[in-house]
Amino acid sequence: MVTQEEVFKKVTAHAKEFGFVFQSSEIYDGLSAVYDYGQNGSALKKNIKDYWWNSMVRMNENILGIDAAIFMHPTTWKASGHVDAFNDPLVDNKDSKKRYRADVLVEEYIANKLESKIEKEIKKASKRFGDSFNETQFKSTNPRVLGYQEKIQQVESRLKEVQENEDMAGFKQLIEDLDIACPISGSKNWTDVRQFNLMFSTEVGSTSEGANTVFLRPETAQGIFVNYLNVQKTGGMKIPFGIAQIGKAFRNEIVARQFIFRMREFEQMEMQFFVRPGEQEKWYDYWKELRMKWHMAIGFPEGHHKFHNHLKLAHYADAAADIEFKFPFGFKELEGIHSRTDFDLKNHEKYSKKKLRYFDPEINESYIPYVVETSIGLDRMFLAILSTAYTEERLEDGTERVVLKLPPFLAPYKVAVLPLINKDGLPEKANEIVKDLKFDFECIYDEKNKIGKRYRKQDAIGTPFCITVDHQTLEDDTVTLRERDSMNQKRIEIQNLLKILSESVSMKSVLKKLC
Ligand code: ATP
Repeated sequence: MVTQEEVFKKVTAHAKEFGFVFQSSEIYDGLSAVYDYGQNGSALKKNIKDYWWNSMVRMNENILGIDAAIFMHPTTWKASGHVDAFNDPLVDNKDSKKRYRADVLVEEYIANKLESKIEKEIKKASKRFGDSFNETQFKSTNPRVLGYQEKIQQVESRLKEVQENEDMAGFKQLIEDLDIACPISGSKNWTDVRQFNLMFSTEVGSTSEGANTVFLRPETAQGIFVNYLNVQKTGGMKIPFGIAQIGKAFRNEIVARQFIFRMREFEQMEMQFFVRPGEQEKWYDYWKELRMKWHMAIGFPEGHHKFHNHLKLAHYADAAADIEFKFPFGFKELEGIHSRTDFDLKNHEKYSKKKLRYFDPEINESYIPYVVETSIGLDRMFLAILSTAYTEERLEDGTERVVLKLPPFLAPYKVAVLPLINKDGLPEKANEIVKDLKFDFECIYDEKNKIGKRYRKQDAIGTPFCITVDHQTLEDDTVTLRERDSMNQKRIEIQNLLKILSESVSMKSVLKKLC
């Protein structure tokens, strides 16, 4: 049996081999946790962006899009709390010289040393008792399971305490008490735990002008907050309304692993929805449901998504949930939905000394709106799609093929046009078809190699349709249309191609599910 780890390795290798994702500055041995998107990756990424943008901005009259700068006035980050509180606790192992997030070490301890033991007990018991096994009852009565559960609660409550009190000495004590060893060196020789700010900084202006430290934004949201009244006034918006944005964000992540899941430079798709104070709960529920629908509308199999409601809330939030996705390395956060109260706007008002109130004509009152935000990492969405689409198949003739079963509307190319052989006027005819179709779809023309090999190449990059031009085409203007997943081939008149393809590859039917 292939392990999930092996699947993940294959997906990563496939991404590189087929021009989706490259390590940044690879010729210089790369830069850790920074990646470049290649010819197919950038096309897939753009289609994901379009899906998000269309579903947010185009489909909703009360959501407008903006594109704010990456650099912002440094006080922005004081007001947002990032200068003082955007920290991760880090600890180094003195022998391996490896750096870890202290909270992640403790969480991994819980998962690997306690939760996995409970799983094992359940598996053992279910084997022993067969059909009569009652998992809920077993979990609430088995002494060993109860013991592990109690231990989990103890560790979680100590973790919460040291995090809330920012007690770095207590953090180290917790790591020592749990006897956590470095996975690389195996030693328990830890440095003290320190807070580490995740923001990157640089300088603007030449030194003679007096250099000024600015930050590379760690989230796109603040560009929306500081512009909310500009958009509201110039767009004539009434509450409730939203502002959406897609853009780069930067975080100096301590533990940067798992390919494009955790990067130091990444892209976010965020929407801040401004509501009347007191109505945030209703809108929070609304957006939670709608965002899950957005994920499901893509058409991936059931069971890949789940909500994780936050028990421990950030200082600015009154409710928060993640949509977790089943990545090859387990369920992990893909998107966050946060009810951020009036925290950000209130603080920007305080620090900027400018009024950021909205006058609500319906109730004749001025107030600082509350905000419900949806925030999804574009790169994580890319990874979710790529890893789910990656499929290895054994065919009837005994051969194997790798196919990316991408939803057609997201595929880098919608159609490949292939002359059966590279002569007799077939390339010219195929190029005519490309010339015609390229106004409506992303097309690719390929005449190299045998036809079977060319089909496999298109399968590997997820092209949903291949059109093959052969000698019969020159006689009767028909082509073979091959469908990627079923590999079925049909003879089609060239004049019908546009209609057939439009129905199969457009985003329209997916967007309609959300309206
Ligand atoms: P995590 O707990 O995984 O660090 P987070 O809770 O800090 O994530 P948010 O601040 O809520 O993340 O950011 C919103 C979204 O941005 C996340 O759901 C994720 O999809 C994406 N994201 C955050 N950090 C990164 C990163 N380093 N690389 C890629 N995507 C990221």
